[in-house]
Amino acid sequence: MSTEMKKSTNAELFERAQKVIPGGVNSPVRAFRAVGGTPRFITRAQGAYIIDAEGQRYIDYIGSWGPMILGHGHPAVLDAVLKAAADGFSFGAPTEREIELAEEILSLVPSMDQLRLVSSGTEAAMSALRLARGATGRSKIVKFEGCYHGHADALLVKAGSGLATFGHPTSAGVPPEVVRDTLVLPYNDVAALETTFDLHGPGIACVMIEPIAGNMNFVRAAVPFMKRLRELCTQHGTLLVFDEVMSGFRVALGSAQSLYAKAIPGFAPDISVFGKVIGGGMPLAAFGGKRAVMEQLAPLGPVYQAGTLSGNPVATACGLATLREVRKPGFFDALATRTKALTDGLLAVANEAGVPMAGDCEGGMFGFFFSRASGDPLPQNYGAVMATDKERFNRFFHAMLDRGVYLAPAMYEAGFVSAAHSADDIAATLHAAREALR
Ligand SMILES: *Cc1c(COP(=O)(O)O)cnc(C)c1O
Repeated sequence: MSTEMKKSTNAELFERAQKVIPGGVNSPVRAFRAVGGTPRFITRAQGAYIIDAEGQRYIDYIGSWGPMILGHGHPAVLDAVLKAAADGFSFGAPTEREIELAEEILSLVPSMDQLRLVSSGTEAAMSALRLARGATGRSKIVKFEGCYHGHADALLVKAGSGLATFGHPTSAGVPPEVVRDTLVLPYNDVAALETTFDLHGPGIACVMIEPIAGNMNFVRAAVPFMKRLRELCTQHGTLLVFDEVMSGFRVALGSAQSLYAKAIPGFAPDISVFGKVIGGGMPLAAFGGKRAVMEQLAPLGPVYQAGTLSGNPVATACGLATLREVRKPGFFDALATRTKALTDGLLAVANEAGVPMAGDCEGGMFGFFFSRASGDPLPQNYGAVMATDKERFNRFFHAMLDRGVYLAPAMYEAGFVSAAHSADDIAATLHAAREALR
């Protein structure tokens, strides 16, 4: 008898998983529901590649949904994590490394004087919301259709019927009362913004936005829209909250806010939320802002917020080692060049094949859309994203997966390139795309 145990296939693992974990996954998008088929069970990853239970290797354009900006298993990060783990997993007491990570992040994001570390983007966005409400003494909040801010109850909302009406819960278990104060507006719509502030201005605690939205594929907030949003918030004493959980340290070293600060003199958000890259693949996130706002938090102020594993020593070691690589001179230029080569390449390959496609990228984040007609503009909001060709995306997704390229398994997700993706990886991806589109 062979001493080696028979390896399970992805399908066998998925079947087994579904017996003990709802839907077989611990986060819904992993189940491949949007595209159909069997999710790949990953056994390990290295550099730009992930390897599944059947030994199949894929070029990874998900990167754990953003955190793995250096690629998998970067030696400096691995070393920092192993050393930190040997010193202890968690103390529930302050450590010097938390200060170092806070200092590192604050040095790169000048809109913040202070920040607090938490363990997930959901937790950071939820805490930012409570802080905004506590600091302003107001209840109403504004979010945009298609932006995702984690799964806190008050943020699981879709637009109501009319303009500037309050939203409806998008999940069972969220009582209507809990989203009563959440307004949902179309993205990039200045008129809707103005109407909303006319109607509700003095009651709005904050506007929360993904400045470059990565949860409806890839949609930028237009500069005039952002400029008007900043003006209205300032005028009404409303806090502008940038959810940079995805875009933070991913689209630029100074995050998306640095791009808007370049385009709009004096621009800065009031509160910023980070996650994903700042943890380098470990559970770590943060929210921060000016001192006067942050001092509203316990133990200094009346806004309660806490966490047993917050500022975890192994996670902070991972995040710190990651950011120290990311801030090296030339890092973002190289990453952006590679990402643009991929995006431009995909558009060229689609064009060759006569398939209408639009695409965009910034730093190490990209998106592409199967348009309905050639020359269709890039989608500017959720409705336009959802009107692109889902069936074609799904066929393309599987054709690419079959050829060893792992794209996000849903057309409403952005893609990510890491520093470990080589020119050869991009070329192999474009070769696969050429075949897939045929
Ligand atoms: C991923 C994400 C979140 C939620 O972060 P989790 O760590 O998954 O809880 C929040 N906001 C944005 C913009 C995200 O991309």
